[in-house]
Amino acid sequence: MSGTVIVGGGPAGCAAAIALARAGAPPLLLERDPRATEKVCGEFLAEDAARVLGALGLDLAALGAVPISRALLGAGRHAAEMALPFAAWGLPRATLDAALLEAAGAAGVVVRMGVAVGGAARDGDGWRLRLAAGPALPAARLVLATGKHELRGLQRAARGTALGVKLPLEGAAPEAAIVLLACDGGYAGLQPRPGGGANLCAALDPRALGVAAAARSAEAFLAHVAAGSALAERLLAGLRPAQPRPLAVAGVPYGFIHRGGDRDEPFRIGDQAAVIPSFCGDGVAMALASGLAAAEAVRRGVPAPAHHAARAAAVAGGMRLAGLMAWLAAHAPRVLVGGVGVAPGLARWAARRTRLGVG
Ligand SMILES: Cc1cc2nc3c(=O)[nH]c(=O)nc-3n(C[C@H](O)[C@H](O)[C@H](O)COP(=O)(O)OP(=O)(O)OC[C@H]3O[C@@H](n4cnc5c(N)ncnc54)[C@H](O)[C@@H]3O)c2cc1C
Repeated sequence: MSGTVIVGGGPAGCAAAIALARAGAPPLLLERDPRATEKVCGEFLAEDAARVLGALGLDLAALGAVPISRALLGAGRHAAEMALPFAAWGLPRATLDAALLEAAGAAGVVVRMGVAVGGAARDGDGWRLRLAAGPALPAARLVLATGKHELRGLQRAARGTALGVKLPLEGAAPEAAIVLLACDGGYAGLQPRPGGGANLCAALDPRALGVAAAARSAEAFLAHVAAGSALAERLLAGLRPAQPRPLAVAGVPYGFIHRGGDRDEPFRIGDQAAVIPSFCGDGVAMALASGLAAAEAVRRGVPAPAHHAARAAAVAGGMRLAGLMAWLAAHAPRVLVGGVGVAPGLARWAARRTRLGVG
């Protein structure tokens, strides 16, 4: 029987795996993709993410991450700019996730790529995992790090309607800036990528006009975001899609917090535990921190429900503020842009207050 099995090799699963291995209890990590791939993500990493990555042995500068020091905002004819109150970077998810998986292997974690878990259930004091191929796998402890994906038998009570859409672009984006652009049904983030090009990523209401087409076609996605503001129209005019179709993920449960279930539940980390609105660009930091915290709970023998309740209490306040900011960005973007223009200090406070990637 395996000791701890972690399902999912994203930031949360890798952070937990590295921490457990360093504590002398290397887990088995199962990842369904054969290699690290691009994910729907704005790729914005603030200093809370950088701090945990550093502790895990990853150096953002050495990985080629692009420094980001300011935020530009556009809604209709309105625009604003502010300096970020913390250091930040942009790094493609395929690069970040590959580096984390490599660090996990180097720490002594047994990493098995291309292994999809089809479901899991309690088996005595432990767990029995059903693999998509091969015999069932017994495990003493189970850590779910499957992101937004539900595992059969262990679905969360998370319901969401938001659609995430991501498109790599060729051409130049504003230097050292994250650009937040209001558009019909939500907002998009644009930022430079290492070696040139940019990433455009949006959180959208799938019922809004034009959104279904935007999720299927790169040209339609660019046109949809460009129609939302003069700033987007100007910036996107100089950028071209690097692929014909965007990546998309449906049913994102923004604001969901897992508050602890019955004593038979597995550990849930990353997006399985809490999903911060992507407007704040802190999901990866939260995932990393929740992985470290769960590893510590496993090491100390804290039961999963008690661990989940403590984590929920720690992130609830920041998640409420993140929800308010994301709501303003989607429903009253001119108020948000105007607010940044007249009260940049308040905007910087809110940006800082929504860094929830603490262990
Ligand atoms: C539109 C959008 C924009 C975002 N922008 C940002 C941003 O700019 N900055 C930021 O910090 N965060 C952002 N986020 C959030 C961030 O992407 C997530 O919070 C983060 O990826 C969560 O990490 P995770 O490890 O929990 O899950 P994931 O990164 O999703 O990793 C889960 C892993 O589990 C694997 N898996 C799933 N099911 C199985 C299975 N059955 N068997 C085996 N493996 C499985 C998957 O293949 C995947 O590799 C954004 C999210 C969205 C939707």
